[in-house]
Amino acid sequence: MATPNPVTTQGQTRTQTEEPTQAAPNIWAVAQQQFDAAAEKLDLDDGLRRVLRVPKRELTVNFPVTMDDGRVEVFTGYRVQHNVSRGPAKGGIRYHQDVSLDEVRALSMWMTWKCATVDIPFGGGKGGVIVDPKQLSTREVEGLTRRFTTEISPIIGPDRDIPAPDVNTNAQTMAWIMDTFSMHHGYTISGVVTGKPISIGGSLGRNEATARGAVFTLLQASKVLNLPLSGARVAIQGYGNAGSIAATLLAEQGATIVALSDSSGGIHNPSGLDPAKVSAWKREHGSVVGFPGADEVSNAELLEVDCDILVPAALENQITAANAGNIKARIVAEAANGPTTPQADAILHDKGVFLIPDILCNAGGVTVSYFEWVQDMQSFFWTEDRINESLKEIMDRAFESVHAMSEHREVDMRTAAYMVAVARVAEATNLRGLYP
Ligand code: NAD
Repeated sequence: MATPNPVTTQGQTRTQTEEPTQAAPNIWAVAQQQFDAAAEKLDLDDGLRRVLRVPKRELTVNFPVTMDDGRVEVFTGYRVQHNVSRGPAKGGIRYHQDVSLDEVRALSMWMTWKCATVDIPFGGGKGGVIVDPKQLSTREVEGLTRRFTTEISPIIGPDRDIPAPDVNTNAQTMAWIMDTFSMHHGYTISGVVTGKPISIGGSLGRNEATARGAVFTLLQASKVLNLPLSGARVAIQGYGNAGSIAATLLAEQGATIVALSDSSGGIHNPSGLDPAKVSAWKREHGSVVGFPGADEVSNAELLEVDCDILVPAALENQITAANAGNIKARIVAEAANGPTTPQADAILHDKGVFLIPDILCNAGGVTVSYFEWVQDMQSFFWTEDRINESLKEIMDRAFESVHAMSEHREVDMRTAAYMVAVARVAEATNLRGLYP
């Protein structure tokens, strides 16, 4: 056996405490700051604040994987459960070279609030492995996934903690996790993960759910602002699962898609871009860039184009104090997690921009994951119509609760969403009391 190399990623030694290199705010500090603001507004008891401000459980695992050339590499991964007062932990697993414990903590806390905002019976969890999977073969990624699943299996399960896809993981990854967990137990346990392929217990509508949910919240916001989606001009940053499907669904509502982008850059045409044609172009050329009849814009310029609705659907920390003042949209719909920094939030609020916060806007994904879990537990599968109708009911109710809180307490929509969510989790935690 080759000598194990302590925590290496593609030959580069990393330490477990290494942080992402970008000079962005630490998102765990941001998540705690957002919680503190809501706790203050709710006048939450000090003891409860101390409980909810930190994750309940954090597991760090260092585990070996045999690579294709026979070398043994050791990878570091995490699974964090922030809160399980309202039900099992729920949240994705991310494979990325910049994963850190702090990032996973923040994402797990956001999952607690997201599940509570839409009032589904889950707590919050998240996982991640420090790896750039694009540097690994499919067999190596499968080996890594199966061993990581084994390492975290003492704390996951359909009644404990239910992972799902996140950055660089997909339905195939979920199939491997489900299979590994089932092999350990000797029978098939499909409800241990969501986001699975349909043929092994996945749900119809899951692929479109995040974008569809975001569009339901936009329909509600358009009523509040008297800004019909039909004819509204929309810019979308990120043309992956959330962004590309949102573009299609918004175009179906009669909106004009004026700008789109992906990691290679953006395209802009004030007369409108046809999402079907842009998707075909991206399939052929690997990017939206170069799409005929459109001007090229950078991702920074895309955020500032003249439009009515801006949908960040790519990464964290995109709308910052440096560009928030230049944003022209009347509505910002956060399909991405954490795209707006707290400083930018304040600037947008002062400008009168109506922001639909991530824990509400992109909660359609976890809501249909909840439907997948319910279907798996009952071994009874719903039609796509039933799924989309139930999703609309949940998203509309969540929007109404958050908007009512925002009006009643005269706070911005993000603070309102946090207040709704934190109050629900605090009530559950309080009712259950402290054990022993
Ligand atoms: P994805 O990987 O399918 O797509 C991401 C897109 O962003 C790609 O088009 C990529 O090229 C683009 N991108 C990457 N870097 C960029 C940059 N610097 N500027 C502009 N575009 C860039 O991912 P996704 O599933 O669509 O997720 C996007 C966001 O939505 C993430 O923040 C994710 O956490 C959030 N989200 C997704 C889901 C879901 O169900 N897919 C659910 C909730 C939240």
